[in-house]
Amino acid sequence: MPACPQRRLTNRKEQRVETDLFIGGKWVPAESRFDVLDPATGDVIASVADGTVAHALAAVDAAAGAARDWAAKPPRARSEILRSAYTLMVERAEELAKLISLENGKALVDARGEVAYAAEFFRWYAEEAVRAAGSITTAPSGANRIVVVRQPVGVCVLVTPWNFPAAMATRKIGPALAAGCTVVLKPASDTPLTALALAVLLAEAGVPDGVVNVLPSRSSGQVVSAMLHDSRVRKVSFTGSTEVGRILLAQAADNVVNTSMELGGNAPFLVFADADLDAAVDGAMIAKMRNGGEACTAANRFYVEAPIAGDFAARLTARMAGLRLGPGADESTQVGPLVNEDTVAKVDSLVRQALDDGATATTGGTRPAGPGFYYPPTVLTAVSPGSAILREEIFGPVAPIVTFDSESEAVGLANDTEYGLVAYVYTGDLARGLRVSEALEAGMVGLNRGLVSDPAAPFGGVKQSGIGREGGHEGMLDYLESKYIATNW
Ligand code: NAP
Repeated sequence: MPACPQRRLTNRKEQRVETDLFIGGKWVPAESRFDVLDPATGDVIASVADGTVAHALAAVDAAAGAARDWAAKPPRARSEILRSAYTLMVERAEELAKLISLENGKALVDARGEVAYAAEFFRWYAEEAVRAAGSITTAPSGANRIVVVRQPVGVCVLVTPWNFPAAMATRKIGPALAAGCTVVLKPASDTPLTALALAVLLAEAGVPDGVVNVLPSRSSGQVVSAMLHDSRVRKVSFTGSTEVGRILLAQAADNVVNTSMELGGNAPFLVFADADLDAAVDGAMIAKMRNGGEACTAANRFYVEAPIAGDFAARLTARMAGLRLGPGADESTQVGPLVNEDTVAKVDSLVRQALDDGATATTGGTRPAGPGFYYPPTVLTAVSPGSAILREEIFGPVAPIVTFDSESEAVGLANDTEYGLVAYVYTGDLARGLRVSEALEAGMVGLNRGLVSDPAAPFGGVKQSGIGREGGHEGMLDYLESKYIATNW
C-alpha cells in the first residue's frame, strides 16, 4: 500500500478520508474536483477528484494487468483476503457508519445496520470463494465425459447508487473477487467517500494493486460508456434506476458484455384480514422505513383488506407520527434527511399530486422549511387508483394505503406494474401466503416478514427490476463462466 495523501473533511475534524481516485493501488489526483454535500445542512463536506475517460481507461488497464495473477491465486488465498476485509470492516464499523451517515444523511442506526450488512458480503464470499464447483458427468451416449469448469468472467465494471454506498459496493466486490475477477468501481457522485474508504480497507486486507480500482466521476455516462466499449471489459454489474439500466444494457450490447442489473422497484405490501395486525404493522415499518424509505426494497404501495384497513391505517399513522426526524449524526434521530434536493422535490411532488387526486394525509404530507433535505414520515389514505404515487418509486418516507376486497383483486393490483423486485404478504393462512407468493410477479417475497435482504440469499428482480442475482450461491455464479470440455479418456 503506497503512502496516501490524507485530506480532512471540512466539518468533521476527526474523520479522515481519501478523496482522490484509486487506480492500480495508487491515489491519483484529477484536474477537476467535485463537492460532496452534507444532506442535513447542504454544506460542502469534501471535494473529490473527478475521474475522466482517460482515468477510466487507466483503471481498466490496471484491472486488466492484475487479472491473470488474481485469477490464478489459490481460492483459499482469495478467501482469506476477503475474510480479512470482513474483519477490518467489523473493526471499523463505527467509523464507516459515521461516514455513510455524513455523506448520505441516513440515521446512524440505519448506517450501522448497513455496515453490518455490507461486511457480511465479504464474509459470505470468503466462504464461497473455495466452493466454485464444476462437474464431471458421463454423456448420455456413454461416448465421452462432460467436464465443466468455472472460470472468472474477467474485468468487471461495477456501478453503484447512493442509497447503500457500502453494501451495494461489497455485494458486487465480494463475489467478483471470490470468483477471481478484477474490478473498476464507479460509485454514485453523491456518496463517493464510503467507496474510497472501502478501497483503503481492501488494500489493507491484502487485495493486490489493480484488483480493485475506485473511480468517482461526475461524468458517469462518459466514463462508464468508455469502459464498456473497451474490449478488455467483460462484465458490467449495475445497481440503480431502471432508466440508467436500460442505457447500460444498450451500451453493453455493442461488445456483448455480460450484464447484471439490479434496478428500481415498486414493492406492494399486502395485508389480509386474517393477518396478525401487530406483526403486519411492525413489518410495514421495516419495509417502509428502513433507510428512511430510500431503498429499492421499500414498500411503495400498501394494499389492505377492507375490514381491517381503518385499523391498520390508524396504527401505522401512530407509529409513523412518533418517529424522530433529524440530522443522521444525532443518536436520537430515527429518520434522517433524504440524500439531495431532487429527491425531496420528487417525494413532495408525488404527495401533492396524490392529495390533489383526493388522498388524505393522516400524518406528515408537508415539506418542512430548510436547511437540509428533510421530508416527514407520511401516511396517505383514500389514495386514488390512478395516482402517480402508486406507479412510481417514491424513495422517501411515504406510505400510500389502498383497500381491496378479494385475494384475486389484491394480486391483480400488486402485479399491475412494470417492476418486479420484491413484494410483501401478511396473512395468518400459510396456504394462502404460499399461493399468493407464487402468483406475485417479483424476484423476492417477504411472507409475514418486512425484510428480505440477506447476503446468503439470491437478491434480484424480474420484469424491469433487473437481470441476475446478488448474494447467495447465485451471486458468485454471475461472475463465473462455465467452460465445457468434451473429454475422452
Ligand atoms: P441512478 O441515477 O441510476 O444512478 C446509479 C449509478 O449510475 C450512479 O453511480 C450514477 O452516477 C450512475 N449513472 C447515472 N447515469 C449514468 C449513465 N448514463 N451511465 C452510467 N452510469 C450512470 O440511481 P440512483 O438515483 O443513484 O439510485 C436509486 C435507484 O437505484 C433507485 O431506482 C433504486 O430502486 C435503485 N436501487 C436498486 C437496488 C436493487 O438491488 N435492485 C438497490 C439499490 C438501489 P452519478 O451518481 O454520478 O450520477
